[in-house]
Amino acid sequence: MNLKVLKEYEEGKDKVFVLRDIVEIRIPRKKYEELLKKFSKEHIVSFSEDKRVVNRITRRELVFVTRESGIPLIGHSAFGIIDRGTNLLQVRCMTGCNLNCIFCSVDEGKESKTRKTDFIVDPDYMIEVLRKFVEFKGDNVEVHLDGQGEPALYPYLTYFVEKLKDLKVETVSMQTNGTVLSEKIIDKLEGNMTRINLSISALSEEKAKILHGKNYPLKHVLNIAETIANSKIDLLIAPVWVPDYNDDEIPKIIEFALEIGAGKKFPPLGIQKYIPYRFGRKLKKSMSFKEFYEKLSKLEKEYGIKLILRPEDFNMEKRPKYPNPFKKGDIERGKIVSEGRMVGEKLVVARGRSVAVYTKKKVGEFVEFEVVSAKDNIIVGVEK
Ligand code: SF4
Repeated sequence: MNLKVLKEYEEGKDKVFVLRDIVEIRIPRKKYEELLKKFSKEHIVSFSEDKRVVNRITRRELVFVTRESGIPLIGHSAFGIIDRGTNLLQVRCMTGCNLNCIFCSVDEGKESKTRKTDFIVDPDYMIEVLRKFVEFKGDNVEVHLDGQGEPALYPYLTYFVEKLKDLKVETVSMQTNGTVLSEKIIDKLEGNMTRINLSISALSEEKAKILHGKNYPLKHVLNIAETIANSKIDLLIAPVWVPDYNDDEIPKIIEFALEIGAGKKFPPLGIQKYIPYRFGRKLKKSMSFKEFYEKLSKLEKEYGIKLILRPEDFNMEKRPKYPNPFKKGDIERGKIVSEGRMVGEKLVVARGRSVAVYTKKKVGEFVEFEVVSAKDNIIVGVEK
């Protein structure tokens, strides 16, 4: 742990260290003073068993996924690598979001009712594992940073993207709400990042605040959009169309994207349909896919641009999937290594995979579980 990037202070009974404004490490003051007689500050922050690590934004417990933690980077939908059988690898470095959008498919942000733990992956560990996946996939690989939360909150983002150069991937892209990006960060990403998918779902302050919360910095996000468009990084504006909320905003967003020069090599817009997911936030109304594509087709004619996108527009193609040791119905046993991402869930390690298991057992115990889902190497189990 590099102490140069740590701020420290005392609060109540705790000694608090803050890493890059997002990771909060709390150690009881008395314990800290005791340990300081024997160990260096760096050692205490890294290895003290009495510390509590918290995501400063969501206030949830934050699990540091490192090589030493023994937590695999495949198997879980919240962190690590997701391979859906194409040349695109979804890479999830951190969970947690600074917004609380009313349509959020993963119920993220401080207001979340379903998520109870956040995860952050050590960047060198991620690179090490990702290298194997990239080699397995072959040439023309896209690494896409996304996740259950805001990928730009990852405190190692620019370091990680710089390191991706060694892996010789064709395309590096990321999903972001843009709120924590700055000119300085865009400058650092330039040259290493191919495309940014920026979500902008309204251009009017009033609608934007309804969709994303009252502190949503719309002007800042629009400036960021222009900064990206003026850089070497490709910009794709990705609104979520939420019926009855932003129907009138969609044409305005199309005009804005075209005006600022989004879409150099890739399409300028990737309009998404609001979908009420099982563990996401639910709104009263959603469009059918038929209606959605009819509306997009009408707008395509009006603006003379492509809005109905296909995997080929992003040079995506089918590739063999990384081997999956599990199938639905398997009975397995594994060790509980941390609290789980969702309420009622624990993180279990079994057969080289991180598995989300619904169980009441405690961290450190072993649990026998039945695999209820194993699609795309994302393994979910229920205690037997
Ligand atoms: S920005 Fe994305 S992850 Fe964050 S709350 Fe909104 S929809 Fe969810």
